[in-house]
Amino acid sequence: MSTPLNSIDDGINTFDQPRHDWTRPEAQALYDLPFADLIFRAQGIHRRNFDPNHVETASLLSIKTGGCPEDCGYCSQSAHYKTDVKATRLMDRSAVVETARRAKDAGASRFCMAAAWRNPKDKDLDRVCEMVSAVKDLGMETCATLGMLTPAQAARLHDAGLVMQDENVRVTAALVQHPPVAPAFAYRFDAADRSIVISGDTAPTDEVVKACDGCDVLLHEVFNPHGDELKEEHWKEYFATFHSSPAELGEIARRARPKLLVVYHQVLEKLPEADLVKQIRKEYSGDWVSARDLGVY
Ligand code: SF4
Repeated sequence: MSTPLNSIDDGINTFDQPRHDWTRPEAQALYDLPFADLIFRAQGIHRRNFDPNHVETASLLSIKTGGCPEDCGYCSQSAHYKTDVKATRLMDRSAVVETARRAKDAGASRFCMAAAWRNPKDKDLDRVCEMVSAVKDLGMETCATLGMLTPAQAARLHDAGLVMQDENVRVTAALVQHPPVAPAFAYRFDAADRSIVISGDTAPTDEVVKACDGCDVLLHEVFNPHGDELKEEHWKEYFATFHSSPAELGEIARRARPKLLVVYHQVLEKLPEADLVKQIRKEYSGDWVSARDLGVY
């Protein structure tokens, strides 16, 4: 007999995509699970979708401290209470970027900027947007806690990594790994009916996974490490540093979940495409095609 818990198990065992069709009995059955069981199930899903041992390292900076006009009743940054927190003005962009650079050198991949505002003025947000763009240019993820934002202010912050936008398409950039070319970018194109991500030349990177995140089409480069010429030590090292192997691409595609993977910039080195397919298939079971000149996907 099928119970709500059976169907939760079915869902957990098969789904790689978020579900939006939970029934009330299923939600209730989840809610009623013992905490340790919940953690166990969450771990299973996490392991199927992410590197189980990856821990994101983040650093937080107070870019404007104290003197907040709000009274949240617990916060030492509120101007309503006498605390030892010294109120400061909004930091300069250069000081923020320098702090982010040091955090990156120390191993942080994400940088959070916190400001003690009830709600920022537009001119203050201009400066925060500049900070967000500059920190992103270092190759770091950014986040911010700035008090209450208007929808327009939130959209401006979101667009701080924006390349261009018109009535048809929105283009955003993500940093990829192709040293010594730095910065090197992948691009995401969002139109009304389609989202496309182009990796550019890159070693495997989480940035492509985040940029795609279930996009319609992911175009990604690849090289074939089995190719004759790539058996030479020099080329082996070169390609492994700057490009993505089929196994690495399979892993990226599995995590990025494109509806269609289009494999381009293929360095096959005299091996048939079928060899590439075999290697990608070990990691990725989704739809994919080899790019063709003037192909439409
Ligand atoms: S709005 Fe933020 S900074 Fe201001 S008092 Fe509340 S928690 Fe503190």
